[in-house]
Amino acid sequence: MKEAAEAGRLPHAYIIHGAAGSGKKTFAGYMAAALLCEKGVKAGPCLKCPSCIKAMTHNHPDIIWTVHEKKTVLAVQEIRDQVVSTVQVAPYYGPYKIYIISDAQLLNEHGQNALLKTIEEPPEYVLIFLLTDNADALLDTIRSRCIRLDMESLDRKTIEEELISSGHSPGEAKECACFARGNLGIAKELAGGSELRELKDQTIKNIKSIKNLDALEIFRFSSELDKETGGQVLDIMLKWFRDVLIIKSDGARDNLYFENDKAVAARQAEGLSFESLGRIIDRIEETGVRLSSGVKPEAAFETLFLKIREEYV
Ligand SMILES: [Zn+2]
Repeated sequence: MKEAAEAGRLPHAYIIHGAAGSGKKTFAGYMAAALLCEKGVKAGPCLKCPSCIKAMTHNHPDIIWTVHEKKTVLAVQEIRDQVVSTVQVAPYYGPYKIYIISDAQLLNEHGQNALLKTIEEPPEYVLIFLLTDNADALLDTIRSRCIRLDMESLDRKTIEEELISSGHSPGEAKECACFARGNLGIAKELAGGSELRELKDQTIKNIKSIKNLDALEIFRFSSELDKETGGQVLDIMLKWFRDVLIIKSDGARDNLYFENDKAVAARQAEGLSFESLGRIIDRIEETGVRLSSGVKPEAAFETLFLKIREEYV
């Protein structure tokens, strides 16, 4: 991107694709700052010049971060107000006016079509970053006019070091880095003692004691879940049984989600056949479908835990 900018051949629109927590916003913000840095794009962002300081504190008038009011939709009016109707106004300071549109997958067809005209014929100074975790939700007409960049995973050591440098113990850093699989945002969220942390700890506790888990405990746990957190629990369970499966197949044991619990996972691997593990994974996936079709978490998880328990000999 820096080279293209220097050569004056920067494409006008990018799709920056990656899972939540993979660094899309960090990257877009950093790149925007570099493009507007007073030291020039090649050296930028210097993080010291007035432009960089404005950029990094989200106060740069030529970098527009769109916002949307509702969690589940980016309304066409929001795109019109924040993007389409302002693109003709030239940048205040630098050579570019940069729009960073987060959650672009939440734009419906209407909204995407509103944006399309801007992407097709933008003023020369306009640059658009579409951030999304699901590029497939974007229309072909949009995708074909954007350069797509995919966020890559970080390696585990890098994430561990980052967590340790922000004050977490090496043990905790390792635990969070293993689970996050290259996603620094998730690792930080876990290490910060978030809701995700609680869900993970509680889910793993339940799986470890699944043979003795009674209906009341399952009810207490699952009655606090909703569609979203229920989905997160299922994801955690899939990761756990994936570890068990890897241990059972004698695969690479240094590549587990739950490194610190591998002794427990190994004991479970002994008690479960490959067929059982296959059925458990199917059940977990089915439960995801049930949750998204409106089955109450209490009912869905009670069935799931009981079915899983049957597989243990
Ligand atoms: Zn600078």
